[in-house]
Amino acid sequence: MKLLITGGAGFIGSAVVRQAVARGIEVVNLDALTYAACLDNVASVAGRPNYTFVQADIRDGAAMAGVFATHAPDAVMHLAAESHVDRSIDGPAAFIDTNITGTYHLLEAARAHWAARGKPRDFRFHHISTDEVFGSLGETGFFTEQSPYQPNSPYSASKAASDHLVRAWHETYGLPVVLTNCSNNYGPYQFPEKLIPVVILKALAGEPIPIYGAGDNIRDWLHVEDHAEALLLVLEKGPVGRSYNIGGENEMTNLELVQRLCAILDRLRPGPAPYADLITFVADRPGHDRRYAIDPARIRAELGWRPSHTPETGLEQTVAWYLDNETWWRALQARKGVGERLGAAR
Ligand code: NAD
Repeated sequence: MKLLITGGAGFIGSAVVRQAVARGIEVVNLDALTYAACLDNVASVAGRPNYTFVQADIRDGAAMAGVFATHAPDAVMHLAAESHVDRSIDGPAAFIDTNITGTYHLLEAARAHWAARGKPRDFRFHHISTDEVFGSLGETGFFTEQSPYQPNSPYSASKAASDHLVRAWHETYGLPVVLTNCSNNYGPYQFPEKLIPVVILKALAGEPIPIYGAGDNIRDWLHVEDHAEALLLVLEKGPVGRSYNIGGENEMTNLELVQRLCAILDRLRPGPAPYADLITFVADRPGHDRRYAIDPARIRAELGWRPSHTPETGLEQTVAWYLDNETWWRALQARKGVGERLGAAR
């Protein structure tokens, strides 16, 4: 199988690329190399005969048509996106352009390629999305595949729009699609503006560790390698038109998460005082969703998926990875906006 993966120089895309290449799948990694990309994330597979990198922008319809003509993929996994909620608050335009218009151009290029090959039933367009499209939960309940769409941030609204486009391209044109909506990911290679790397790197620098609001927002955390495995499983076994929610069943308040990270750092890299002393509460994110929690019953029952990392092992491995990979994160910290408070304005 020849698999086109978009966004493969990012956090989750690179995990999918590494796993797919390791399984012997022929992978074409398409990425525009925005501020959030890092080719070091895929350096371990760069020389492999079953790996190709293409720098291209999904907003460029002609370029997308060219990529399909040149590489003739049997399947697409679409992860390229603007992905940081705080940046979407300060500058929503890039989210509309990439996540909505870019997905449209990719869908059209995929549809033309699929039609030109005689509309094979085993072609796949796998759209990778987030549980944030479902909005915010109260204290109880879970997101299922039937949950109504109620996005609250420009990021989640743009991802919701892209989900709808993918669904429509299936219903209207018959394009064989599958969709997945996943909870918060963590693990190695996460860009240093996201919560977990921010906490680790602020702690190591001895700087205040910012927590939005009272730190009582709840997220359901999943290790990125477990997500990548789930995605490859859905690509291989998911029936056309089906969507799957993917989550770790690991709910934590942001404050609990930060305290756990501080405790791990206290053990692995003891400082002069407990790292939790650096915790500082700052103004909340506008429209900050209260709680996300996934019910993964469908992917478990239909495809037999189960995550292999627990938060205990996964968070410790992640902290250790950041301690061992300072050169990687130092280079990214120099990029525009990283380390600054973004998305605070109403
Ligand atoms: P990321 O920001 O780390 O990576 C995104 C990648 O897409 C980058 O390499 C970037 O260069 C590329 N890209 C951006 N715009 C592009 C364009 N116009 N053309 C081509 N490439 C472009 O994001 P991530 O955290 O790895 O998320 C990947 C996908 O998974 C996104 O679609 C996101 O919505 C979804 N998702 C993320 C999470 C999470 O917790 N991070 C959870 C669920 C779903």
